[in-house]
Order: sequence, then C-alpha cells, then structure tokens
Amino acid sequence: MRTGAMRVAEISLPAIRRNVARIRDLTGGAVIVVVKAGGYGHGAAHAAAAAVEGGAAMVATADLEEALALREAGIDAPILCWLHGPRTDFAAGVREGIELAVNNLEQLDGIAAAAELAGRPATVQLKIDTGLSRNGIARDRWDDVFARAAELQRSGRILVRGVFSHLANAGAENDSAQAAVFDEAIERLRRQGVDPEMRHLAASAATLSSPHLHYNTVRVGVAAYGLSPFADKTSAQLGLEPAMTLRSEIVALRAVPAGTGVSYGYNHVCETATTLALVPMGYADGMPRALNGAGAWVTVAGEHRPIVGRIGMDQFIVDVGPLAGRLALGEPVVLFGDPERGNPPVEIWAGLMRTINYEIVVGIGPRVVRVAVDEEPAVGEDSEAGQVGASDEEPAG
Ligand SMILES: *Cc1c(COP(=O)(O)O)cnc(C)c1O
Repeated sequence: MRTGAMRVAEISLPAIRRNVARIRDLTGGAVIVVVKAGGYGHGAAHAAAAAVEGGAAMVATADLEEALALREAGIDAPILCWLHGPRTDFAAGVREGIELAVNNLEQLDGIAAAAELAGRPATVQLKIDTGLSRNGIARDRWDDVFARAAELQRSGRILVRGVFSHLANAGAENDSAQAAVFDEAIERLRRQGVDPEMRHLAASAATLSSPHLHYNTVRVGVAAYGLSPFADKTSAQLGLEPAMTLRSEIVALRAVPAGTGVSYGYNHVCETATTLALVPMGYADGMPRALNGAGAWVTVAGEHRPIVGRIGMDQFIVDVGPLAGRLALGEPVVLFGDPERGNPPVEIWAGLMRTINYEIVVGIGPRVVRVAVDEEPAVGEDSEAGQVGASDEEPAG
C-alpha cells in the first residue's frame, strides 16, 4: 500500500485493457468506453488511458465538464459527452475538440453558434430517443433536427460523426422494438443526406448478450471495469476481470471476553472470547451502513472474516478470532475485488443492499485513494534468453 493511505481502491489497468480488448474481439466493431462519474468510481483519467490502450476508439462522459477534465488530464483520444444543461459551454467543448451529442434543435443551434465563435467546425453525434423517454431527439422532431443538421453539415459548420441511442433493458422484445425505431431514424437521416460513420445502441448488457444490436460500434461502461451487468451472470462467466480492489488495513487489534458489546448500539455482542480488528473505512467511504448485521465479510490473511457491529462514518470492526496470533497492525483487509483471486465480489454488497454493482463502485467516497496498478507480467526475460540462444551459434559438428 502506497503513501501510507489507510483506504485504497486499487485499479488494475491491465484488467481494464483486457476487458476492452475482449469486448472488441467479441463485437468486431469500434468500442466507446464510458468513463462518466469518475470512471464509475475507478478514476476517469487512468481508466480512459487504459481503455484506449485496450483498443477503445473513443471514451465518453455524461457531462461536458467531465470531458474537459479528461482533456486537461492529457487524454487526447476522441471524447463524446451527451448530457447538457441550458448553460453548458459548447464553445469550450468545440475548442477542446470534444464531440457533443445533440438531443434537440436548441442544442444543435447552440453548438453551431459555438463552432462559428471558435472558428472551427463542431463534431456532433445525434442522440435518438427510441423509447427510453429520457433524452435524445424525440420522434416528432426528427425531421426538423435532421434537416437542420444536414444543412449545417453542408455549410461546413458541423460534422455529424455519429448517431446513437440507449436501450431501456426492458427485455428482448423491447430491445428489438427500440432497434427498429433506431433503424428508422438512421434511414430518415440518410434521406436528408447524412450518413454518420458511427452507429451505436448497445451498452454493456446488449453488447454481452445481443450481437444483432452491435451495429458498427458499442458503448460500454460497467463491462470495461470487469463487472457483470446481469444479476445471473458473474464477471468470470463473461470473461471479464473486476478492475477494482477495495482495500484497507487493520489499525487496532484487541482481545475481548465473551459478552463484549461491539460498536454503536451494541447490536453485536461477542458470544465467546475473541479478537476484534478495527478497520478505518466507513459509510463516508461508500461502505453501506446497512451492511450491519447482514452477513458481509472481508478477506484477511487469505481468510473470510465477518464484519460485526454497526459501521461508522470512518471505521468498522471485523471479528478475526482464530487468526489473531498471525495478525499485526497494518495487515491488509480486502473489502471486495476479483473473486477469482479469493476476494469477496462487490456483488455481495450489492445483493445485501438490493442494488446493482454499479451503485457500489461509483459510490466509493473521495477519501479512498485510487491507485492505478500496472502489474502486467514482464515477458522480456524469456524472449531475451531466446534471442541470446538464437544468436549463439554453435559450430556444426
Ligand atoms: C452510462 C451509459 C452507458 C454505459 O452503460 P453500461 O451499462 O455501464 O455499459 C452507455 N450509454 C449511455 C447513454 C449511458 O448513460
């Protein structure tokens, strides 16, 4: 653990690269990796860099502010953002070469005006509402918006690079109905003379389950971080590796007699004499307080040990009973990570909380230091040895 930090979310960059490469192999088209909300809590800038190294053609955020922050952090790959407010600074987006989604005529005109101001064309992607009822160009406005987009493209003020939509994940039949609406939008756009390079509908769920919805591009978030978008399939079953390992450490150990009450409210009382370990993570760090008494566990010295007593804002307690003799202060505690490496999967927390893995990882708090690790195994030694052997010519008998 670096820098003495007591709370670390270790982010495996090789895992992100391999997840993105796997999605690329699976779909054969372009991959856009969504790094909104701080890369789903993983850290947007290093997640974006790893995604690009893994073969992503583009990264995406919700807000323009997030996209601009990525540029500032040195990400020079194409960036798309789609959620704008009435005061979003499109001119800053155009200046920084951010691709802007268009959800209505007002946004299209605002972006065109920004392009004029910046003295360079704006690159846009048209977002179509195919049934989510959230954002995107409503069907009764398609003709207006598409005609204006065509006109602005002809005059060189904008380039329409993509057209996309988002699924409601309301079952296969609804997915197909949305795809049919999407096809119709693409066709109507073509009739206006606009034929965008990128067409994308599938997020992680459709990418992993529905090849007929891949079009020529997919747009994935959670799968890139190695998490399953499905309640009934694990990461490993999908060939994905969870990239985040949430770690802390033991900062106090105390032997206690039977009958000892633990933490606020004493709603856990030790049945036997045991040893309690104090871990400095709490609900301020995104650890749900309702895990209290729910049967959640952590990994300590390779063993699964239960969380006991109420979780505080900054700390919680683990009953380390039989391990006590083997533990010292500073012993690592893993809260969740890759189950293939013996760590609790984040889905345990999500299940106990009746929520989805997305909400847990994105809710990891700001006190937790994100440490990107790049532990790709070195392959240099073997190939070097091979080269030495090959150039080391033995005189033939
Ligand atoms: C968040 C988001 C995604 C990514 O969804 P995942 O389920 O994480 O793959 C894709 N598209 C849009 C529009 C989104 O808002």
